[in-house]
Amino acid sequence: MYWNKDHECITRERLEEVQLQKLRQTLKRAAGSPFYKAKGIADYTIKDLSDIRKLPVTTKQDLRDAYPYGMVCTPIDDVVRLHSSSGTTGTPTVVYHGTNDIDNWTELVTRCLYMMGLRKNHVFQNMIGYGLFTGGLGLHYGAERLGCLTIPSGPGNTKRQLKFMKDYHTTAIHIIPSYALHLADTLESAGVDPKKEFPDFKFAILGAEPHSEETRQKVEKFFGIEAFNSYGLSEMNGPGVAFECPERKGMHIWEDAFLVEIVDPDTLEPLPQGTKGELLLTTLNREVMPIIRYRTRDLTSIMPGSCACGRTHARLERFSGRSDDMMILKGVNIFPMQIEAILIGIPGVGRNYQIILEQKGNNDHMIVRAEIDPSINVDAYRSLEKLRERITRELRDEILITPEVDLCEPGSIPVAQGKAVRVIDRREL
Ligand code: AMP
Ligand code: ZN
Repeated sequence: MYWNKDHECITRERLEEVQLQKLRQTLKRAAGSPFYKAKGIADYTIKDLSDIRKLPVTTKQDLRDAYPYGMVCTPIDDVVRLHSSSGTTGTPTVVYHGTNDIDNWTELVTRCLYMMGLRKNHVFQNMIGYGLFTGGLGLHYGAERLGCLTIPSGPGNTKRQLKFMKDYHTTAIHIIPSYALHLADTLESAGVDPKKEFPDFKFAILGAEPHSEETRQKVEKFFGIEAFNSYGLSEMNGPGVAFECPERKGMHIWEDAFLVEIVDPDTLEPLPQGTKGELLLTTLNREVMPIIRYRTRDLTSIMPGSCACGRTHARLERFSGRSDDMMILKGVNIFPMQIEAILIGIPGVGRNYQIILEQKGNNDHMIVRAEIDPSINVDAYRSLEKLRERITRELRDEILITPEVDLCEPGSIPVAQGKAVRVIDRREL
């Protein structure tokens, strides 16, 4: 039974009682780690939930400095698994799990999948990286617990993915949005109609990287399916943190497992409901490595009002990016997501793009490389020129600076195996 009404539709009053009790327990546990012991975490008294604001925040750098075991609060013997975040440079940030941690994580993922509509008789193809990255194993365990035939296909090898989808009558896929667009490109170039080729295909879980509503719609329309936004980060398990319900108006964040704060990224002051800010999260169930007030750097807001699905857990607005993704050009703050939303809405623009930042003299210069749609005739110079003009105009209206737009042939921008690399910053620091 993975529709746990008692937990998912819990009253706010009862939820806050549970959170308070779990928060106190979390602080007690955390005090067992060298990192939180040094922070004097045991000395804080928590009378009510708002007292969390007195606690110190934890940053990614703290996790790096504590490498390898500085944040583990149990005997190392109790650790059964580790994962690492997807950053590829420097000291990794590693998160450790005990048996109960894996069990609780699996339960949350199963809750998400059931909420989306996945059932025991369905086939789930997991096209996301296994290994240190949490996306593969996290979803895998949840789908297996639900009883689905779970195909650990991992990312890449597009031909084989498509063959599996057809031969196993795949119901749902878990996929990075940029790779979903690449799958669509591959099918379109081969003249395959996905609705005929995969009649049992119903759901795509899009996760692991920011993506626009327009990208979701493009995936849905092309495949004739419903796509669900899935948010997670390795520090809080990985996938299974926040997920859309069938209403698909924001992602329910499981507040019986994570305590949510939205703060001003500069002052760390709490922001009112509905205002966008940085998400801070505290683990409430984690036994081996609790994390308190983690600065995710992800920007979102808590949506006001209640959800028609009946679940009472707060809903997070689609993420507009990370505070450290923000580009500052000529004094203007720009997020890659603003550019994606424009590009994907213009007919004739293909599905892959990249933003290159350069320095020209003392000035910042932005080049937006966008693939053209495979159906466009590359030799039709006039229509390409018109397309370039339209993109430049619409981007300028959105981001207030004029980028150089470079249109290129479909397939010419490399497709990453994991999260897409959208911005290449060649400016001197
Ligand atoms: P990792 O710890 O490597 O799994 O990376 C987690 C980060 O990926 C998060 O902190 C977000 O910045 C990003 N991310 C994951 N899922 C989403 C999503 N659905 N929307 C936007 N960003 C996401
Ligand atoms: Zn809902």
